[in-house]
Amino acid sequence: MKSARKWNRRGFLGGLGVMAGSALSVRKLRAHVQRRGTAALVYPSNVYEELGVTTVINGQGTMTMLGGSVIPPEVEAAMEAASRHYVHLPDLEVAAGKRIAQILKLPEGYTGLVTSGAAGAIQCGYSGVLTKDNPEFIKQLPDLTGMKSEVIIQKSHRYPFDHQIRATGVKLVEIVTPDDLRKAVSPRTAMMHFSNYLNAAGEIKVDEWARLSKQYHLPCFNDAAADTPPVSHLWDYTNMGYDLVTFSGGKAIRGPQCAGLLLGRNDLIHYALLNNSPYEDTLGRGQKVGKEEIVGMVKALELFVSEDHHALTEEWWRRLDTITRQITKVPGVTAAYYVPDIANHVPTMEINWDPRRISLTSDQALELLKNSKPSIILGRSRAGMEMNSFMLQPGEDRIIAQQLVKIFRTHQVSA
Ligand SMILES: *Cc1c(COP(=O)(O)O)cnc(C)c1O
Repeated sequence: MKSARKWNRRGFLGGLGVMAGSALSVRKLRAHVQRRGTAALVYPSNVYEELGVTTVINGQGTMTMLGGSVIPPEVEAAMEAASRHYVHLPDLEVAAGKRIAQILKLPEGYTGLVTSGAAGAIQCGYSGVLTKDNPEFIKQLPDLTGMKSEVIIQKSHRYPFDHQIRATGVKLVEIVTPDDLRKAVSPRTAMMHFSNYLNAAGEIKVDEWARLSKQYHLPCFNDAAADTPPVSHLWDYTNMGYDLVTFSGGKAIRGPQCAGLLLGRNDLIHYALLNNSPYEDTLGRGQKVGKEEIVGMVKALELFVSEDHHALTEEWWRRLDTITRQITKVPGVTAAYYVPDIANHVPTMEINWDPRRISLTSDQALELLKNSKPSIILGRSRAGMEMNSFMLQPGEDRIIAQQLVKIFRTHQVSA
């Protein structure tokens, strides 16, 4: 992926031999890179087009299904630089973890680990809690003979990513009330799991969960994968007392797609790494983390925490305003706004229309947008469509506005 970006159309298909003969010689390219830096390289053509796949304008936010987020040029450059050397990966992981703890000012005794993603962080985090540094246990997973075997979770917090907890072999014990929790705790209990975006759905809230885990002398895990912004969430949960916390690297932090952060107590992070790639005969060996991802993740985090988040939010509102001004000129079209409490906590716009004036269902509208050129992906809302603007690239707000106006106009009901 990374090397493909500096090749032109023929280069991509035919390799360097073809490229040397093309107008843009390797020598010229190198000179260009030295002058302008790698980030200044221009894509001679769209690498996805080469494969016959259409790229989309992403008005839905940080969806893994659509490729998560787009990494900033500084991260691209860091990953490219990392790709040019060999390094002992466990040493790199430990050093990156220390740097992450510094960047986030994690509590004393806490460090970080770059994983393959938040899902990978859940799996290696739980593996480590179960095996500690016992080499036999590490090899044995998901056979839990000799280890603890249960994880407590609120019934309303069951979600697709508890598959990564179950992959370690543990049984999930569902509870609803604090009293259920008291009864569920046993010598078999390894940890208590919290799914942060489901905070509102559960009877026991995020801070109470951490407090109760201390009361029962159990470690607790918070999956906060998509729960930044706000940037403060990156340190809020470890400060709250969570022993392990995960965030996706490839969502709003705009790190490498195949990266995530596991933050937590030094001992638990050490055990998590022992259960993960590059170590062999581990459950986590399938969740390889490259040197490029580790370095890129640290760089992305540095950039993210030092960003002007206020200015970014203003820009996201400005983009939605651009779209609103155009689409509300079509009679019957209205826009409304909200900010989700948690996960994709960014300005979000609902686009609604009066079906007596515009003859279009939301499914039809979404399909038309998807099939337009360029293809646009928005979300479905209760009555219409919804979108956010934080993953848009420059100029895409105007394209969305034009396309929406076009489809609304062509489906206007004549009076
Ligand atoms: C996206 C997400 C994950 C998975 O994160 P990856 O970084 O894609 O592995 C896990 N949990 C929640 C709540 C998520 O939103």
